[in-house]
Amino acid sequence: MARENIFNFSAGPSVMPLPALESARQQLPDYKGSGISVMEMSHRSKLFQDIFDSTKLSLKELMGVPDTHDILFLQGGATLQFAAIPMNLIEDGCADYAVTGNFSKKAAVEAEKYGRVNIAGDSSATGFDRIPGQEELKFTEGAKYFYYCGNNTVYGTEWQYVPETSAPLVCDMSSDILSYPVDVSRFGLIYAGAQKNMAPAGLTVVIVDKALLGRELPFTPQVMSYKVLSEHDSMLNTPPCWCIYMLGLTLDWIREQGGVKAMDALRRERASLLYDFLDNSRVFKAHALPGSRSFMNVTFSTGDAELDAEFIKGGAAIGLLNLKGHKVAGGMRASIYNAMPPEGVQRLVNYMKEFELSHV
Ligand SMILES: *Cc1c(COP(=O)(O)O)cnc(C)c1O
Repeated sequence: MARENIFNFSAGPSVMPLPALESARQQLPDYKGSGISVMEMSHRSKLFQDIFDSTKLSLKELMGVPDTHDILFLQGGATLQFAAIPMNLIEDGCADYAVTGNFSKKAAVEAEKYGRVNIAGDSSATGFDRIPGQEELKFTEGAKYFYYCGNNTVYGTEWQYVPETSAPLVCDMSSDILSYPVDVSRFGLIYAGAQKNMAPAGLTVVIVDKALLGRELPFTPQVMSYKVLSEHDSMLNTPPCWCIYMLGLTLDWIREQGGVKAMDALRRERASLLYDFLDNSRVFKAHALPGSRSFMNVTFSTGDAELDAEFIKGGAAIGLLNLKGHKVAGGMRASIYNAMPPEGVQRLVNYMKEFELSHV
């Protein structure tokens, strides 16, 4: 099936804006008359340095990153940050973690190797169908940071508020970064693997308050020390050059659409198409509770594994790809990131309506 007939609901790596792919194709063998590809350039060359600087500036402007914070372009995925965060920030103390899905759970387990971890909130008892309210969070006096995962990619829940606590906030925004305006000054650290909402897999963006640099545990590898990485402007070693370039193209597209405010309007439009249908459906049911629902990953099921499988297969046959839920959650998941046009969601809802009519 050709691309124009496909809507790709993959949770990650996921759909990229078509204009970004087209620009990359056009520049692939010969970047701006240099005679070489971005893939073939030295990361120390002026040509690449310009790409790096303009991508960093673009992200700074689009997200409104204040001068108090630095932006790092790293490798190792979001998962490496599960270890890097405690190594750099926990010192000889403890940290508070909210466990609202599998990735925050993994992050908390990893952090236990480096310091004491307190579970400040936990929604596992109800199958991760909700986000705890501010009044439910149990903060620890003197905690070095409070960690949470802004959007739970697997279970389809999302924090709709920024928690208030005296400790620096650390947030995994892998699957909702750049989808709505964020007041970066409220965070000690924001990080995101690029492959959900930004670029191909291989790049992790870390935005860190410079006041937090230099607290790393003595055994922290250089390549994981935020201080060292910041001092080298992410070029201690070879950065993920191609992914940084692709991020730049995605950011160009976001800016042309009207920035993160426009992304916010689009995410609301896409999500309400799906949730409105789900809430009135006689066959499908949404997993996440209202008030905790993700704008990026909509999880649902029929309650019958065979029927779910039939639905997923039938979707793929008409170009609605990758609707299968994560293996730990089951059911279906429609990942509707920035680059998913509302028409794609409308097509999905139309298919759900037809499926429903033939199954009640
Ligand atoms: C995908 C994802 C991760 C894991 O990312 P990797 O880059 O594979 O390590 C972590 N957190 C969230 C919220 C994710 O969506």
